[in-house]
Amino acid sequence: AIPLVVAVSTSLAANSGLLIRDRQAFERARDIQAIVFDKTGTLTQGKFGVTDIIPLTNMDENDILRFAASLESNSEHPIALGIVNSAKERDLKLESLEEFNSIPGKGVEGLVNGKKLKVVSPGYLKEKGIEVTNDLIEKAEQQGKTVVFLLEEDRPLAAMGLADIIRKESKEAIEKLKSMGIKCMMLTGDNRFVAKWVAEELELDDYFAEVLPHEKAEIIKEVQKEYIVAMVGDGVNDAPALVQANVGIAIGAGTDVAVESADIVLVKNDPRNVVDITVLSKKTYAKMF
Ligand code: ADP
Ligand code: MG
Repeated sequence: AIPLVVAVSTSLAANSGLLIRDRQAFERARDIQAIVFDKTGTLTQGKFGVTDIIPLTNMDENDILRFAASLESNSEHPIALGIVNSAKERDLKLESLEEFNSIPGKGVEGLVNGKKLKVVSPGYLKEKGIEVTNDLIEKAEQQGKTVVFLLEEDRPLAAMGLADIIRKESKEAIEKLKSMGIKCMMLTGDNRFVAKWVAEELELDDYFAEVLPHEKAEIIKEVQKEYIVAMVGDGVNDAPALVQANVGIAIGAGTDVAVESADIVLVKNDPRNVVDITVLSKKTYAKMF
């Protein structure tokens, strides 16, 4: 039988927008010492807009955006949605996409109107030894923007800067958690400049940038050497880390894979509900023992 206080708390939790999928994980939540948040879609809204188009050849801005959007039209990544929406806002007609492949944590590639194109991260260029130096790219990075590159074969055609918005609820959630003595950290596949910018805005205790999808769970293991850890994420790439953490928490609006790998789901997509989880868990289990 479920003890009465637990039953009451579960319904209290439901009222504040928490879906508890694993009651034992909810009990473990009272002992959480560190919380690792995914960046995109978790601490930020994950709604990107293209703010900078930086040609590296004589291609014009609209063509850059049109070709990039044609390739990204097959991807569900927040960056892809941002590029496609920005192309729509300019009424650009997309080219036909014949082949498509995603390169997890790095970008996408495909055949657009007979051209072999890629939209990829700075990390991908580094890995391939492709060097691009440009003042406008540096400036965009310094402003905390996410920068991706459009390539034909391995030739850089353009860079694009994208901006995301930090959720206003994130600041309050981090402040409260820190005042409870819980370490707040961030994990992201995005570049270190963006990561640094978000970490400073939110006054995080620590952050990990340019993390590849398969490394996310490894980082949770590292943090677990020192702390009892909760992970909060929304994406397919976050699933192994959610499983590895002592408590896995998914943003409800995230992917099904993340939601199914999580112990607790934030139905209202509000990071402040992470505070409610720890408070409610402490109250519930303090009453029992
Ligand atoms: P996050 O940890 O922020 O959710 P991901 O692991 O999903 O990031 O992606 C890491 C990086 O890989 C992105 O910041 C971007 O540079 C690149 N990337 C991933 N998917 C795409 C895509 N569809 N288009 C362009 N770049 C992408
Ligand atoms: Mg994500």
